[in-house]
Amino acid sequence: MIKPFVIGVLLLMSAPAFAVGPSAVAAPDRTLWPDSVDSTAAFDRASRAEMLVFGHELAESEKLSDDDLMALLKIKQVDHASVETIRSKYWKRLATGYALASARCAGDEPFCPKASDETSFRKAAMAFASAPSARYDAWFANAREFHRVYLNELLRLGALFPHISSEVDTFSAKELSGNEPADRTFLLTFDDGPTRADGTTDKTQAMLRNAHLNATFFVLGGNLEARLKQTPAAQLAQNYAGMCVGAHGWEHKSHSSWVDWQSSVTRTTALVHDTMPASYQPLFRPPYGQRRADSGEFFDAQGIRVMLWNIDSQDWNNKVNADQVKQRVLTLMLLWRHGVILFHDIHPKALVAVPWILDQTRGSGVTFMDCHSPL
Ligand SMILES: [Zn+2]
Repeated sequence: MIKPFVIGVLLLMSAPAFAVGPSAVAAPDRTLWPDSVDSTAAFDRASRAEMLVFGHELAESEKLSDDDLMALLKIKQVDHASVETIRSKYWKRLATGYALASARCAGDEPFCPKASDETSFRKAAMAFASAPSARYDAWFANAREFHRVYLNELLRLGALFPHISSEVDTFSAKELSGNEPADRTFLLTFDDGPTRADGTTDKTQAMLRNAHLNATFFVLGGNLEARLKQTPAAQLAQNYAGMCVGAHGWEHKSHSSWVDWQSSVTRTTALVHDTMPASYQPLFRPPYGQRRADSGEFFDAQGIRVMLWNIDSQDWNNKVNADQVKQRVLTLMLLWRHGVILFHDIHPKALVAVPWILDQTRGSGVTFMDCHSPL
């Protein structure tokens, strides 16, 4: 959960010059897409369409100077090398995804310019400046706005990295970026719980079981300790049975600036392990994605891996409702085609979003992976 005032405090602590969080959050309107996404071909078509629009905006953003970026993103400093790094990663991911999504393009299939490598995808995306037919006009206008705002979210994180770390990039290959799952495969993750008894954590677990799914929960040690005062350990372990549980730290604080970050991690992992050994996973998700650049040695020594995410649902954000969350997540699933999705079990929006996404993607070949499978 990232509240603007928390970000403000964090930024004041670490970098007084930076402004508060992104001013706009991207939420598309999927009702404007005139087709379904419930077959592999339909999913691929919608996927190519989102990739071409995002690629077009990515190419457009390369015309901006650092000064332009600072003004656009309302930040006081741009890490030029970091922005270049993330752009280059996005081009690679898009070209790979597009090759998969266009493998079975029929002759007259829309959104299917030939592009077999990064250079040709970049060219196709740059040329993609209008909808292929009037049928897609309304979607196109909305998608362009969505991807412009979404790209700005990413560029902002990229411009601040590594001074302010986040999920936008990794410090080493040991960290899981969220891009590890295979094509059409996603891992569900839920942060910040557990809630009090009968709260949204319990409802989230019931929703997942009902859908025959599991997920990785990144719990706060403090919240787990509070819940154990209400629910006995054996019962709580039963509640999480079949799920995976990693650590999110003892308190919801930046683990790049908190002096006690190491004990926050070890205390939380110990409590999770002792309470529910069958669900425990040696994974740490840093609050806000913030961890130290030199934290790798500590995590190695503990046998713990950092797990970030590549699809941010924004379900914590009170500017975005459940309907917008579900449409945003589905659009990002189409764009990236695989990944680790960030939700929060202290908020109820995933209770609406996940069943809707399952319904929309039935038949599309999309799978939600077992959280026990290694990434
Ligand atoms: Zn969190």
